[in-house]
Amino acid sequence: MSFCFTAQICFTSLQLPHLRSSLPKTTDMSTKVAVVTGSNKGIGLAIVRALCQQHYHGDVYLTARDSGRGDEAVKSLAADGLTAKFHQLDINDEKSIVSAATFFKKTYGGVDVLINNAGIAFKDADPAPFPVQAEVTLKTNYFATRDMLTHFLPLIKSGGRVVNVSSFVGARTLNKCSAALQQRFRSDDITEEELTGLMEQFVDLAKKGEHEKGGWANTAYGTSKTGLTVLTMIHARRLTKERPHDGILVNACCPGWVRTDMAGPKAPKSPEEGAVTPVFLALLPAGATDPHGRFVSDKEVQPW
Ligand code: NDP
Repeated sequence: MSFCFTAQICFTSLQLPHLRSSLPKTTDMSTKVAVVTGSNKGIGLAIVRALCQQHYHGDVYLTARDSGRGDEAVKSLAADGLTAKFHQLDINDEKSIVSAATFFKKTYGGVDVLINNAGIAFKDADPAPFPVQAEVTLKTNYFATRDMLTHFLPLIKSGGRVVNVSSFVGARTLNKCSAALQQRFRSDDITEEELTGLMEQFVDLAKKGEHEKGGWANTAYGTSKTGLTVLTMIHARRLTKERPHDGILVNACCPGWVRTDMAGPKAPKSPEEGAVTPVFLALLPAGATDPHGRFVSDKEVQPW
C-alpha cells in the first residue's frame, strides 16, 4: 500500500514538474530537528555541543541574532568535529521569529525539540535606572520568549520537547511577591493573558517606582523568570488539554549558576555542566509522560 502511494507520488511529480517542487521532500520532512535560541555562546552553545555529541538523531540548529557570531560558533564546533546547522533568529524581532518558523515548517514539517535559552541580565553595577532594566529585561526574557512560543508551539511535532531556560532566581522571586501575586502564580487557572497582563503591570509600576508597593519583588530579572516559569506551566496544561495524544513535554529549568558572560567567572558550573538539565529535558525518552509543566533543576523537579 505504501509502495503504491509512493509510486503514485513519483509518477505525478515526474509528470507535473510544478507539483514536484511543491511536494514535501520525504527525507527532510522525516528528519528530526532541534532548535536552540541564543546559542552562539554560553549555555546555549554548550547545549548545541551536547546535542551534537550525544548524536541527537536529527539536525541541530544553533541560532543567533547575529549571523557573524552564529557562523563563528558553528565553526568552533566544526573544529571539534561536530556538525551544527545555523539559522538567524533574534527573538526580539517578530519578523525574524516568523521567518525562522516558516523555514522549519517548510523544511522539516515542524520542530521536534525547542530550547528557549536566549536571555539577558543587567550586571549589578549597571547604572541603567530600574524602570529601563525592567522594560528591557522583561522584553527579552518574557515577552520575546512568549512570541517564540506563540509561533513555534503550533509547530511542535508529536513526541516533541520544549525546554524554557528559566532560573532559580525566578523561584526565589516568587517567594518575595505579595501573597496575592504568589497565589496567582501558583494557581492552576491562571491564563496566558492574565500572566502577560501581570508582567505588563510590573513594568508599568516599575516605571512609576511603585512596583514594591504593588506587591512585586525588586528584581527585573527574577520577575522575568518567574513569568517564564509560569508561562511554561500554562502551556503544558494547554497542550495536555488540546493535544492529549501527542505526548509533547514542556518544562522550565534552571541550568545552575554557570560561568558565562552573563554570570561571570566566579560561578561554580562550567557551561557544559549548565547544559546538563536542559539537554536531559530535551531528550526525555519517547513515551515519557513526566516531567511536564514543571520547574526542573539538577534533573530534579523543584517545588513551585
Ligand atoms: P550569555 O549572556 O552567555 O548568553 C546569552 C545568549 O542569549 C547569547 O547567545 C545572546 O546573544 C543570546 N541572546 C540575548 N538576546 C537575544 C535575542 N534577542 N535573540 C537571540 N539571542 C539572544 O548567558 P548564559 O549562557 O549564561 O544564559 C543562557 C540562559 O540561561 C539565559 O536565559 C539565562 O537567563 C539563563 N540562566 C543563566 C544562569 C547562569 O548562571 N549563567 C543561571 C540561570 C539561568 P548575543 O551574543 O548576540 O548577545
